[in-house]
Amino acid sequence: MQHLTGLVVFTDLDGTLLDHDDYSWEAARPALTRLRENDIPVLAISSKTLAELHALNARHHLFAGLIGENGGAIEINGDMRQLGPQTATIDAARDEIAKTVSVPVAGFRTSTAAEIAKATGLPLADAALAGQRNCSDPLIWQPPRADIDQAGNIAREFGLKLVKGGRFYTLCGETDKGSAMQTALMMLQETGKLPQSRAAITTIALGDSPNDAGMLAHADIAVQIPVKHGPVPQLDLGGKTARLAPKPGPAGWNIMINSILDDLSQTPTSITKAR
Ligand SMILES: [Mg+2]
Repeated sequence: MQHLTGLVVFTDLDGTLLDHDDYSWEAARPALTRLRENDIPVLAISSKTLAELHALNARHHLFAGLIGENGGAIEINGDMRQLGPQTATIDAARDEIAKTVSVPVAGFRTSTAAEIAKATGLPLADAALAGQRNCSDPLIWQPPRADIDQAGNIAREFGLKLVKGGRFYTLCGETDKGSAMQTALMMLQETGKLPQSRAAITTIALGDSPNDAGMLAHADIAVQIPVKHGPVPQLDLGGKTARLAPKPGPAGWNIMINSILDDLSQTPTSITKAR
C-alpha cells in the first residue's frame, strides 16, 4: 500500500458527502471504509458550526478533523484554531447594526435554541448546536432594502462582510475553505498524521458549490459533485479543472474516491502487466 501514503481527503458535507434530501452518507460507506483501512485522514469542511460537526462525528466517527463556519474554525486532535474574525468583533458589529437599523435584529449567537429552531425549522437540539458559533452570525430580522445596505456598511467598518445565503444574511469575515485547508494540512503535519514534506502529500477535495471553489482550486485532485436538483454550477478554479462525478451526493463521492484510489494504488509493474 506504499502508493497510498501521504493522502488526505477534504470534503464538503451538504450535497457532497451527505445526500441533498435525506442527509445520508450510506452510499459512500465502501469508499469511507477503504480510506479508513488505508489510514487516510478525511476532514469535513462545511458551513456548519464545530458544535454541529462534533455531534455528527460523535455519531458516525467519519472525520480526523473538522473545519466549520466555511473555513473560519478548525479543530484537529483537540487543537482548535480560529482563522475567522474574533467572536467579539462579530458581536460588536451585530450590536452596532441592531442599534442603527429600523427593525429588530437578533443573531444566532444572541438567540435561544427555540428562537433559532423557529427561524430555521431545525429540531431544537440541532438549533442549539447551530447557535454555537465562533466567527460568523446569521441575522434574524425582516429588513427593508435600506437597512440591508446600512448593515453592509457597518459590517465593512468592522472589517467584516454581510453575505446573503439561502435564507439568511450572515455576518462573517474573509475566511474561505481554501485557506483553511492549508492550515489544516500544517496541523495534520504537526500531529504526524501526514509527511513533513508537502511534496509527499496528495490532497483530494470534493465539493458541489461555489463556496467550495477555493478548496477545489488548492487541491491536487479536485472532484466536483453534481448537484442533485438543477443545473451543475460552473466553478471558478483559477484555470484548474475538477473531475466531475457521474452521480450526485454520496453515490458520486463513492465512485470517485474508489477510482482515485484505484489509480493511485496501481504500481508501475501492474500497469505494465495490464497492458
Ligand atoms: Mg455543499
